[in-house]
Amino acid sequence: MLKVAVIGAGVNGVSSAIKILEHYQNAKRNVQVTIISDEFTPNTTGDGSAGLWGPFLLGGTDEKKVYKWSKDVHLFLEQIWLSEDAGEAGVCLIPCVRLSTNPNAAVGDFWRDIVYGAMDLTPAQLEVYNRNRDVKFTSGLSFVTYTSEPIKLLPYLMKRFVRRGGIVLQQRITNLEGFVKDSAYDVIVNCTGLGSRQLLNDEQMYSVRGQVCRVKANWVYEVLLDESDDGNYIIPNTESVVLGGTHQEKDYNLKVCPKDKSFIVDGCRRLLPGLNHAQHLFDWVGLRPGREQLRLEAVKCGSKLLIHNYGHGGSGVTLAWGCAEDVLQLLLAAKLTAKL
Ligand SMILES: Cc1cc2nc3c(=O)[nH]c(=O)nc-3n(C[C@H](O)[C@H](O)[C@H](O)COP(=O)(O)OP(=O)(O)OC[C@H]3O[C@@H](n4cnc5c(N)ncnc54)[C@H](O)[C@@H]3O)c2cc1C
Repeated sequence: MLKVAVIGAGVNGVSSAIKILEHYQNAKRNVQVTIISDEFTPNTTGDGSAGLWGPFLLGGTDEKKVYKWSKDVHLFLEQIWLSEDAGEAGVCLIPCVRLSTNPNAAVGDFWRDIVYGAMDLTPAQLEVYNRNRDVKFTSGLSFVTYTSEPIKLLPYLMKRFVRRGGIVLQQRITNLEGFVKDSAYDVIVNCTGLGSRQLLNDEQMYSVRGQVCRVKANWVYEVLLDESDDGNYIIPNTESVVLGGTHQEKDYNLKVCPKDKSFIVDGCRRLLPGLNHAQHLFDWVGLRPGREQLRLEAVKCGSKLLIHNYGHGGSGVTLAWGCAEDVLQLLLAAKLTAKL
């Protein structure tokens, strides 16, 4: 029997674990997959995020790879959206508008053929968003895509994993090298996100702090994203609307900062004045696993295989299922068939 341990129960760990388990089971191969993690939903980085599809804050990660991974995820979300699981998994189809104030560069859109109906905004459409603004938006893109809020998606995926016989253990790994060497697992998949900074002494890893504010505003049905460096965003989820947000590099403060809160609330109200009357629910801070480049590679350790899958920055939800497919392909390429 092939024994696989996936370390980390965020979107990337759970997606990788399901991909491996379901592939081997469907091929009628003998496999045991265990997720080992110190925290689970609702306490992972993704749990506070809005889970909007869209590549964001990925350092110098190869655009071609990002395109492939994010396209895989869009198809995965489309399948859930078209299934009876959409509500339980928190997958919603939603119109979005991305706006830029940079006159020299249009809104980034190498992914525009992945989303539905992408169209550049006309000057007249831009004008609607420019009312009452000193700094004007100079370009914009409208399209339709998905949100898959991890606070719902993760319990759904965990259930899917356990239903297929996946094992779940709560444990903190402090010495990865020792764990790979001494444990009974043949394959170890490292999906510890920012935890890899300490676990591997990976100096390329850094936090990208994100503070958001959740409000009740059931009348908001559109995602609004100001792409400027100091821009705000508004993303409706099923039970609340996420107002954002900050992206402070190398800031590890998990406490809510009042100055950031004013920036978020005031900025979002400027974008959508109706938010003045929205009921405040709670504020939240998470640390995105930033890295110069996302790390997805396999390392042979004697007879064992260690696969790294971490550093997804502000796009973990957008890339998880696609990266999990690459994790599976790395495992298959290692040809550990003797174990099966
Ligand atoms: C404010 C904010 C908004 C965001 N919005 C979006 C969005 O709209 N769309 C999007 O795609 N992305 C978004 N993101 C980014 C996304 O949340 C992350 O990229 C994603 O959650 C990373 O997932 P992960 O599984 O790699 O890591 P994590 O979710 O951090 O999971 C790491 C797991 O490893 C475990 N772990 C760590 N170290 C150890 C150890 N030593 N031993 C055992 N277990 C360990 C942890 O307990 C955890 O379970 C947002 C992030 C923030 C902060």
